[in-house]
Amino acid sequence: MEFNTTLLHGAAIARYPGREILPPISQVSAFRYESMEELEKVFLHKSMGYAYTRIGNPTISAFEQRLAELEGGAAAVCCSSGMSAITASLLAVCSSGDEIIASSGLYGGTIDLLRDLEKLGIHTVFTQQLTKEAVKELANEKTRVVFGELISNPAQRVLDVPSISEAAHERGIPLFVDATTATPYIARPLSLGADVVIHSTSKYLNGGGNAIGGVIIDGLSFPWDVNKHTALANFKKYGKRAFSVRLRTDIWENIGGCMAPVNAFFNYIGLDTLGLRMEKICKNADLLAHALEGIDGISVDYLTLESHPYHDFAGKYLGGHGGGILTIRAGSKEKAFLIINALKYAMIASNIGDLRTLVIHPASTLYIHSTREEMEAAGVYEDTIRVSVGIEDAEDLIVDFTNAIRSALEE
Ligand SMILES: *Cc1c(COP(=O)(O)O)cnc(C)c1O
Repeated sequence: MEFNTTLLHGAAIARYPGREILPPISQVSAFRYESMEELEKVFLHKSMGYAYTRIGNPTISAFEQRLAELEGGAAAVCCSSGMSAITASLLAVCSSGDEIIASSGLYGGTIDLLRDLEKLGIHTVFTQQLTKEAVKELANEKTRVVFGELISNPAQRVLDVPSISEAAHERGIPLFVDATTATPYIARPLSLGADVVIHSTSKYLNGGGNAIGGVIIDGLSFPWDVNKHTALANFKKYGKRAFSVRLRTDIWENIGGCMAPVNAFFNYIGLDTLGLRMEKICKNADLLAHALEGIDGISVDYLTLESHPYHDFAGKYLGGHGGGILTIRAGSKEKAFLIINALKYAMIASNIGDLRTLVIHPASTLYIHSTREEMEAAGVYEDTIRVSVGIEDAEDLIVDFTNAIRSALEE
């Protein structure tokens, strides 16, 4: 089965008790049982069943199963947000005194979280470029996880997952990949060697900009050694499932960051069109980047442009796709604002992955709390405009951006 057919007819598409085509929205807090014995069995994990939505809910499970299938993973846990997913995944493998290796151009919220984790005694060693050489140099006996974004936002640096995971695995360390900006349409990190893949489902997986959510998907291939990963000590008997069992029955459940059932439903129906949307979004972004590339006075950064430093990676690991994010450097903050304000179709909003084209000036919004060094490490400058390309007609987007740029540069 190809991608779109898997989306609609894959093994994860279940038959529902009332013959519904879509999973019914179980918008309930709790599930009732006919006898105390039955509920006891559910709590003892001796029989399958739902008890309380923070711990499990059929609408959420329906979405989790599809994501596990799409990523080629074995266990998925949905969370209330992408940040909640990143938090739970890191706390499941790190205890006080442990270290994380991460790339410095991460999503701003993740950088802030890693700063918060310092107060819990979990230290992050940042590297400008997350490569196998960086892992070899920075890994030590305290390192518990290597964390990176498959396609960073907005710099569009691409992780060489096979070589990074190899270097990490040689040292008994797993690789966790945030693949929010890539989606399984573009690449499946687990098949490239990553151990755990994380998404903010709020972005492309939902696609309609109508529900915050996150997911953690475990490939169940990492051979956990609980002498090293002491955070998993009580889960030794689960072997390769130690991480996902600890996550589901311990950290995630106790932090309480479950996805709302109604959000799982919105995500479920959004996911149906992931392939269609990503195909159109990638094509639009490619056409827009090539159309704007030649305009004097600005510069354009997009993965499929020959000039992009990671251009070859797009061919090698991303099926030739560049994703939905491109950046424009306008020359100054004032010009960036003029261009943004002159756009007719692109909406000014702090989000990506919507099917509408969205624009923002990251330096004065998303990176307002960052130092200049942190900002530039993430590929954000005073004059950077970030565009999250949508599914409008490419011709209209090209005219809109060209007119806005020309009028701003004339002023
Ligand atoms: C948005 C985003 C997050 C955070 O997700 P939320 O759903 O907003 O909590 C994490 N990583 C990346 C790459 C993102 O784009």
